Amino acid sequence: MNDIKLALLGSEGAGKSAILVRFLTKRFIGEYASNASSLYHKRFSIDGRQLNLEVFDPCSETVQSRCITEEPVEWADGFIVVYDISNRLSFLNAQSTLCQIKEARAGNCKCEVEVPVCLVGNKQDLCHARQVSEEEGRSLAQENKCFFQEVSAAEDHQEISNLFTKLIRSVMEY
Ligand code: GDP
Repeated sequence: MNDIKLALLGSEGAGKSAILVRFLTKRFIGEYASNASSLYHKRFSIDGRQLNLEVFDPCSETVQSRCITEEPVEWADGFIVVYDISNRLSFLNAQSTLCQIKEARAGNCKCEVEVPVCLVGNKQDLCHARQVSEEEGRSLAQENKCFFQEVSAAEDHQEISNLFTKLIRSVMEY
C-alpha cells in the first residue's frame, strides 16, 4: 500500500489541529484558525518505503467533509482519536467515537475495532488541571485494543511524530 489515509477525530478543542500542525511543521500554532474540514497531504518515508499520506482533520462544526465524499469513519485506514486530559467531557466523547468507529467498521459497537486506532490524551502540559488520569486513558485503549499515548502538542514534537509513525506502520501491516 502506497497511499495511507488517516483521520483525526475527537471533541472540538481537544487539539486535533494542533497535533496535526505539530506533526507536519514541528511547531505549535497556538490559535489555528480552521473552520473548514481539511485534507492534508504529505510524502512520508518509512522503513525505506515512500508513502503518500493523507490526513483528514474535520472542522469543528461537523465531521462531514467537503474534501472527501465518504464519512471519515468509512474512509480512513487508521484513526487518531484525541481527547484533552483537562476535559472529562472530551474523554467521554472519545469513548463514543471509538464506539462509532467499531459500529462503522465492524458492524457492532461490542466488536473489536477492525482498523488501527491510536487513542491520544492531549495537553499533557496541563497536568495541574488534569480531569482524566493516565490510567483511565490506558484502560480505555486496552478495552478497545488500540494504542495509547499522552502528548502535549504545545511542548513536544517527538511523541507526536512517534505516534504517527507507529500508526502508519500498523496500517501498513494491517
Ligand atoms: P481542535 O478543535 O481539536 O482542532 O483543537 P485545536 O487544535 O484548535 O486546539 C484547541 C485549543 O487548545 C487551542 O487554543 C490550542 O492552542 C490549544 N491546545 C492544543 N493543544 C494543546 C496542548 O497540548 N497544550 C495546551 N496547553 N493547549 C493546547
